[in-house]
Amino acid sequence: MEEMLVRRIVVVGGGYAGFYTAWKLEKKLRKGEAEVIVIDPRPYMTYQPFLPEVLSGSVEARHAAISLRRNLHRTKLIAGAVTKVEHARRTVTIRPVQGADFELGYDIIAVTAGAVTRTFDLPGVAEQAIGMKHVEEAVAIRDRLLTAFDEASVLPPGPQRRRLLTVTFVGGGFAGVEGFAELLSLANALLKSYPELTRDDLAFHMVEATQRILPEVTDGPRKWVLSVLERRGAHVHLDTTLVSAEGGHVVLSDGTEYDSELIVWTAGNAATRLVRGHTDLPVTERGMVQTRADLRVGTEADPVPDAWAAGDDAAVPDLASPVAGAFTVPNAQNAVRQGKRLAKNLLATLRGREPKKYVHHTLGSVATLGLGIGIFQYRRIVVKGHFAWLMHRGYHVLAVPTWDRKMRVLSVWLAAALYGRDIVSLASVQRPRDAFVTEAELPRLSLADVHSGGTAAVAGPADRSS
Ligand SMILES: Cc1cc2nc3c(=O)[nH]c(=O)nc-3n(C[C@H](O)[C@H](O)[C@H](O)COP(=O)(O)OP(=O)(O)OC[C@H]3O[C@@H](n4cnc5c(N)ncnc54)[C@H](O)[C@@H]3O)c2cc1C
Repeated sequence: MEEMLVRRIVVVGGGYAGFYTAWKLEKKLRKGEAEVIVIDPRPYMTYQPFLPEVLSGSVEARHAAISLRRNLHRTKLIAGAVTKVEHARRTVTIRPVQGADFELGYDIIAVTAGAVTRTFDLPGVAEQAIGMKHVEEAVAIRDRLLTAFDEASVLPPGPQRRRLLTVTFVGGGFAGVEGFAELLSLANALLKSYPELTRDDLAFHMVEATQRILPEVTDGPRKWVLSVLERRGAHVHLDTTLVSAEGGHVVLSDGTEYDSELIVWTAGNAATRLVRGHTDLPVTERGMVQTRADLRVGTEADPVPDAWAAGDDAAVPDLASPVAGAFTVPNAQNAVRQGKRLAKNLLATLRGREPKKYVHHTLGSVATLGLGIGIFQYRRIVVKGHFAWLMHRGYHVLAVPTWDRKMRVLSVWLAAALYGRDIVSLASVQRPRDAFVTEAELPRLSLADVHSGGTAAVAGPADRSS
């Protein structure tokens, strides 16, 4: 049995809420008061609001990743996933990125494991679709579109070319609409560099199960967003679901059928496997950690000692909402502030003081709709167009953690204003040995290779002559 000299605080997940919890804790903890351990399989926190701009090349993929090691100097980091939380034993089981599973004891736990992309068991979706929650997904979406342009440019007009340039986004929430609009904006801009292709070759479909996209904005601005997308050639299918996507053949519930090379799935959040079924902490019906307004786990009447939760995985009562029984919306605005409040409250309880309740009044919603155009809404105040887009950029460059990231993102935006965006697909990074193995012959990289993650055979000279 290991001896604990100082109290051990374990933070499960180093995303938004976990990163801010640990960052604040290490700033405020007195020497010897407690040790902080963050466990996450990824070595970085993902600044997800930048992912739509990673798609379009306005933000460099690396700049959306905030290194945990560079920024958490007094925190111990463990590269692995927590597979079980046994709070009764104050023990987590960790599956490290290398090596065998092991257990780790703790005194206090903060569960900030976020959410995963919600999927449905629809034919073809698991094989064809790609999510948009992680940097690698955003990079792959971008590379697939750019590779599709290269491939389509050498094909005659026809179904094959059409399929390559057909894109489907499923889910019209904020992330889906921003990603869709950024990719559409990139595709329209690419046409200038591809004289072989025309706007008629492009088909961008957005599929939304409810009657409205962007549920956070009101009807007027929403109609305006729809008109912006449709003016750029988008087909928005409302009240429609995806029925199947076998072999890339999309069937929608409104009867529409077409072949689509790229299918992006942005249809909401689901609980992580850990929270769903591998913890003895109380979990709500929707698979979130039952959390009090002061971010302690449990109910107002029955707090669970030494357990805290925040972010997308926590059902936190929304004290700013007029609707009784509402929970805070799973977004970055809440995750950041809950992380900071969690750290302060945890310290307060360590020092014998009372924790405070989390209350946050929304700052409104701001979205990019492609280069130079955006939408902002705060209650009845609506800003549309270029100014809203500048607000989006201004807000996020201020909000992204660390000066390092702010300056790097700004410098890419400034360079792009002078020289335009990069338009080269780097899908070939998935096959780094091709050039070496084929004696400097240019490999033929097709979308099939990109889909298979680089496992397809290298095309030899004979393949290329046909
Ligand atoms: C494309 C996109 C755009 C968005 N844009 C906005 C926006 O403009 N404004 C806004 O307010 N919100 C936005 N959001 C939502 C926002 O990013 C999330 O609400 C926020 O990231 C939630 O923070 P979190 O800490 O709960 O989860 P995350 O940031 O997802 O972090 C969870 C972390 O836990 C780790 N983890 C998961 N399981 C385990 C485990 N078992 N063990 C250890 N670690 C684990 C993960 O690796 C991850 O690092 C956007 C989301 C997306 C996908």
